[in-house]
Amino acid sequence: MNAPVATTCPYCGVGCGVLVTRGEAGVTVAGDTTHPANLGRLCSKGAALGETVDLPDRLSVPLSRSAEGTLVPTDWDSALDRIATAIRQTVAEHGPEAIGLYVSGQILTEDYYIANKLMKGFLGSANIDTNSRLCMSSAVAAYHRAFGSDTVPVSYEDVEQADLVILVGSNLAYAHPVLFQRLSAAKAERPAMRIIVIDPRATATASIADQHLAIAPGSDALLFNALLVAIDQTGAVNEAFIQQSVDGFEEARASAWAEAADLDRVAERTGLTTAQLTDFFAAFIRTERTVTLWSQGLNQSASGTDKGNALINCHLATGRVGKPGCGPFSITGQPNAMGGREVGGLANMLAAHQGFTPENIDRMRRFWGSDTVATAPGLKAVDLFAAAAEGKIRFLWIIATNPAFSLPDSHRVRAALARCPFVVLSECVGSTDTAAYADLLLPATGWGERDGTVTNSERRISRQRAFLPPHGQSRHDWQVLCDVATRLGFGSAFAFEHASDVFREYAALTAFENAGSRDLDLGGFRQLDRAAYDALPPTRWPIHADGSQPEPFADGRFFTANRRARMIPIRAQSAASALTIAMPLRLNTGRLRDQWHGMSRTGAVAKLFAHEQEPTLRTHPQDAARFKLRGHQLARVRNRQGQLLARVVLDDGQRPGSLFAPMHWSDGFSRDGLVNALIAPRLDPVSGQPEFKTEAVWVEPYPAAWYGLVLLRHDAVCPPFSTAPGDYAARVTRPAGLLLHLAGTEPPAAAISALSDWLRHSNPASPDEEILAFADPASGRYRQAWLRGGALFALCAITPDSRAPDTDWLTELLGQGVLSAGDRGDLLAGKRAGAADRGPVICACFSVGKQTLLDVLAEHPAADVATLGACTQAGTNCGACIPELKALLAAHAVAASVTDAPSAQGA
Ligand code: SF4
Repeated sequence: MNAPVATTCPYCGVGCGVLVTRGEAGVTVAGDTTHPANLGRLCSKGAALGETVDLPDRLSVPLSRSAEGTLVPTDWDSALDRIATAIRQTVAEHGPEAIGLYVSGQILTEDYYIANKLMKGFLGSANIDTNSRLCMSSAVAAYHRAFGSDTVPVSYEDVEQADLVILVGSNLAYAHPVLFQRLSAAKAERPAMRIIVIDPRATATASIADQHLAIAPGSDALLFNALLVAIDQTGAVNEAFIQQSVDGFEEARASAWAEAADLDRVAERTGLTTAQLTDFFAAFIRTERTVTLWSQGLNQSASGTDKGNALINCHLATGRVGKPGCGPFSITGQPNAMGGREVGGLANMLAAHQGFTPENIDRMRRFWGSDTVATAPGLKAVDLFAAAAEGKIRFLWIIATNPAFSLPDSHRVRAALARCPFVVLSECVGSTDTAAYADLLLPATGWGERDGTVTNSERRISRQRAFLPPHGQSRHDWQVLCDVATRLGFGSAFAFEHASDVFREYAALTAFENAGSRDLDLGGFRQLDRAAYDALPPTRWPIHADGSQPEPFADGRFFTANRRARMIPIRAQSAASALTIAMPLRLNTGRLRDQWHGMSRTGAVAKLFAHEQEPTLRTHPQDAARFKLRGHQLARVRNRQGQLLARVVLDDGQRPGSLFAPMHWSDGFSRDGLVNALIAPRLDPVSGQPEFKTEAVWVEPYPAAWYGLVLLRHDAVCPPFSTAPGDYAARVTRPAGLLLHLAGTEPPAAAISALSDWLRHSNPASPDEEILAFADPASGRYRQAWLRGGALFALCAITPDSRAPDTDWLTELLGQGVLSAGDRGDLLAGKRAGAADRGPVICACFSVGKQTLLDVLAEHPAADVATLGACTQAGTNCGACIPELKALLAAHAVAASVTDAPSAQGA
């Protein structure tokens, strides 16, 4: 057993520290109790990291697309020469603006720094942008407008110390689970702490809220304008702070009054009652220690920057910035979105938080020793791919991201990738949606092999440390970029030997001619040697050359030219797409609790599918009745952009008139489950961030004639989704193989035959094969189990029932070896004799189903979360399911009170 390596989780922006131990049993992961971000806590995704270090489909050698369109192995030197030649030719024929780099909040700060230095510093184009544009660029723009800098002025400790925490457009329980755990623990310790959740949906996060404001989609800016009016009306404006530190108060106040003076009208437009509004306003006004935390629900909007500034205005008006326990707090989605912001990963910024001013451009020329520093902002993510679609971007290098899946209007993005003459993709796995369009695929080191730094949502820099050798021939992204820079003749500026050399240069840049003029200053790290870099503890910036770490804005001075903050007048117009008779519903998109992005990592872990196994569509029962949708059946959502097929989930927490579909279902895991195919590229005019939350759509029932299951042992070959019978397909990793959910409109007898043929095509008959078959044409039920050597190898089943059966016992049979006579009988019967259905899984860590919990409640009617945990282990590991346990307890209490209430006759 090796000594534990302290590193950082590669998923969300909470940035949890993890301790990784390698032993004979594989890699084990535990929360790092010394890391200030999580203090030992992990969520379900972080806790399962040990099961993802050996990902299937890892790229191990560079691959080049042949003239026939297939990918063939090549060597690194040839691949790098080809890239350098393509860049040189493209620049010579079309200029540097024809080059594009699209990078990711998944890469490390050192990778980001080198990518940015090559593009903006030496190729002379700023056409480098990041997928973080899709998560938080509106927050960056809002901070910039207000503070003159991209400074997040709040820490996780501030959240815990606050007396009022307002969560706006943030399902913290799913998207940032460990921060949610910290918030829940703080509230349990100080019940007087008040939590308000502002979200059209009653999410798991709302389970700990004192007040949930189910706001009408898109009306957040109006709500905060109305709050500013209330602050003004009640004399809660901090006049001294305004006087000393803020410009623009009068203009912002006038704008808020013009928009939001009429409370009844605000109530009507936000969909809230006047009582809800006045309660919310009063809570904010009376509570000095208020943190307002926001995330994608606000940012992913065509007016996301205005929404952010409307919120920040209220903090500036009350002077609640730069003090303990208060402030406006944008939480980032990805593990290193903040690092990307710092080193210039956004097309509109130079490195080290510098904008494109003549002074900053000149500073970068001198620091990098280059005459070709870009002089104007480049194309932001959506515009970059639009330019590729128009033939203006002719060389595109994509690093650690999957734009064919994650950008809005995915069909158009795919067309752009197909049109671009040369696409390079640096990736860990070769099966992403974007890989299909790459001319050159470069194997990149993954988590556990990389070495560098990331910055979390609270400005804390942490080390990601390697504990594994690089897989195959994979290389670090910063090294590959340096090798290409060298081939282009820039070798002396890219002669780095180790990630610590890159970090040292970046730190020196932040301190270069700074003297307090810029917020981002890592001067204390500018001489960090390799040993100190290896030992670097998690550290919040700034850290000045003298070692001091002042809290930004504590002195009431900001980073605008006159060092005063700015309130921004906001016109609270909704930029959502118009609803029509043909498109009468709003589609909202977001995250699941146990999955990450396109599931290329979490999708390899069976237990992370326990919570949700298929693309789902959450709808309020009223809308379900209106559009003839039934729970568990499939529905088709469509608009002019595209369509989606998903399993209907009836959810009282949905706002009537709106639907919710998760973002994770990439082509590798579903057919027609890609929600971004429906999202039009409507952008915030300031930040360029796309709107993902309010797409106008139509929904209708899918007329399935059959629902199917296919179960394959790990050594069986799964044919490609695109060729599967039926219209609907979703793939789920199971412990000993995989499971497919399918559906179609053909007659069931034709479907079972087609399914069987489909599987047979990739799995020719084996001499030891035996087929058990059941057919009941009258009811439309068919089952075929293929046994090899007496053990279950594959199973396909067709039923007219839309409710998915409990597949856990089937999955257990996959790994069981030779089947008994009873098992064979169960397979043909389609259910395990005498087995209880444990219901949908609530706790992924211990696979505890809803029915198991209800059984406990039947025995212990007064049970609480602790009792459920003691009886079943649910909620006792990562805690991510605790909101659902609470919701179950609440529903049970309501049901019990109804049952217990005396009837009118009996009273
Ligand atoms: Fe990783 Fe979960 Fe922590 Fe996010 S909250 S960093 S996903 S362990």
